[in-house]
Amino acid sequence: KMSSLEPPEDHRICVCVRKRPLNQRETTMKDLDIITIPSHNVVMVHESKQKVDLTRYLENQTFCFDHAFDDKASNELVYQFTARPLVESIFRKGMATCFAYGQTGSGKTHTMGGAFLGKAQDCSKGIYALVAQDVFLLLKTPAYEKLELKVYGTFFEIYGGKVYDLLNWKKKLQVLEDGNQQVQVVGLQEQEVSCVEEVLNLVELGNSCRTSGQTSVNAHSSRSHAVFQLILKAGGKLHGKFSLVDLAGNERGADTAKATRKRQLEGAEINKSLLALKECIRALGKNKSHTPFRASKLTQVLRDSFIGQNSYTCMIATISPGMTSCENTLNTLRYANRVK
Ligand code: ADP
Ligand code: MG
Repeated sequence: KMSSLEPPEDHRICVCVRKRPLNQRETTMKDLDIITIPSHNVVMVHESKQKVDLTRYLENQTFCFDHAFDDKASNELVYQFTARPLVESIFRKGMATCFAYGQTGSGKTHTMGGAFLGKAQDCSKGIYALVAQDVFLLLKTPAYEKLELKVYGTFFEIYGGKVYDLLNWKKKLQVLEDGNQQVQVVGLQEQEVSCVEEVLNLVELGNSCRTSGQTSVNAHSSRSHAVFQLILKAGGKLHGKFSLVDLAGNERGADTAKATRKRQLEGAEINKSLLALKECIRALGKNKSHTPFRASKLTQVLRDSFIGQNSYTCMIATISPGMTSCENTLNTLRYANRVK
């Protein structure tokens, strides 16, 4: 059973797609489900192009990924095929990273387990919790017990190219790169954690900080990247790191002309960082001098995840099933397709 906690050798980047169920709003407005998952790694988009006589003419587009999950897949199942195989790498001085990418409302936060509707258990079955569970399990195995590792959590947000500490009242932090090209978020809170429950407390604390003072939870969180990290240290020194990134919504404002200046700037910044992310992931394991990690704050802060000898990444691209989300869904699938 343990062997599946190791990353496959040939496989630095794993890209998966997860479809969520139609929600009540979509059902009420009679939105059509245009996504099918005909096999474990294929996603089909049935795009209604035009009407021919009385029948719809359906144009199908097919995409292949490492895995594709339909709307019945649980967080546990998604975890098994995405983040779980990377967990053991951080015990071997590796850097593991898991991204949730997609349109706002498509299920990124649901997948990560960062949603709180007032109850701590809301996040207990998300990827944050599942990674933490396996980290503490491995910590106590004979192979790793003797390393005397300590576990620390960090949680921060990147908004408009600035970093804010979610474990310290959204304190704005500087990012510095030293002579050895080591990137440091200066003053970032690292909280020691010794069990899953303590990790979930951090997630909850960070999450309440993320949304405080905002009129709409999703309005704000959709415009920022949230980075949660579990860090292993031995003798005070970095040993390995797992970064879990709930990315900003990738939708482009269709109403750009009407959008406020602030919204336009937000959108431009998000676009820039998601493009940089794609290029950095593509460069994984290839010519490292071409990794453009300085192109955005997100990729700069995650430098270790892209440059290391022992870096592994998975991306969960989340999609909405409805016809009304077709453009965004196709953009998400095309992006995910090109990451690899
Ligand atoms: P995002 O973070 O991408 O903006 P959320 O994770 O907040 O999206 O999801 C939007 C809504 O859809 C939430 O109410 C969430 O609970 C629900 N949802 C998302 N994915 C699923 C899923 N796979 N199964 C059931 N409900 C889901
Ligand atoms: Mg979200």
